[in-house]
Amino acid sequence: MKIDKNCVVELDYKLMDLNNQIWESSDEGGPWVYLHGHGELMPALEQALIGKGIGQKLKLQMQPEEAYGQYEADLCTQVPREAFAEVQNLTEGMRLAAENQDGVHAVTVKKITDETVTIDANHPLAGQAVKVEVKILAVRAASDEEIAHGHVHQQGTCGH
Ligand SMILES: [Zn+2]
Repeated sequence: MKIDKNCVVELDYKLMDLNNQIWESSDEGGPWVYLHGHGELMPALEQALIGKGIGQKLKLQMQPEEAYGQYEADLCTQVPREAFAEVQNLTEGMRLAAENQDGVHAVTVKKITDETVTIDANHPLAGQAVKVEVKILAVRAASDEEIAHGHVHQQGTCGH
């Protein structure tokens, strides 16, 4: 079976930056199972997978706008240093969970001075081209229910 809209696809994957540093991979989290054609993947990757079948491998390089978007300087904020009084070993480059009115976000500590800390809410790969390597492990037709819900039901149902 070849990948097309409304197939359930299982992939081994690796997400790397252009220095070949691995950011995410199925070696850690297990294979990635998704419903094709419902916007779960980066569009360029989803497009490239159409017509491929089990056992096929794909390597793709994507520009920032096809991956995590451009770097937005607006997403950097200066916060009084006291706000981080409880964080142990605060260092530049550290990833933290920060809370604002929209909920909890992962941020990066960009700059530390005696009075302020600059935090950056951009995705760490924003503004960077990325490389994705995938291997197709399984392809099956989605059930009507999965298509109606727009996601995969791994254990036969999702409970709603
Ligand atoms: Zn469901």
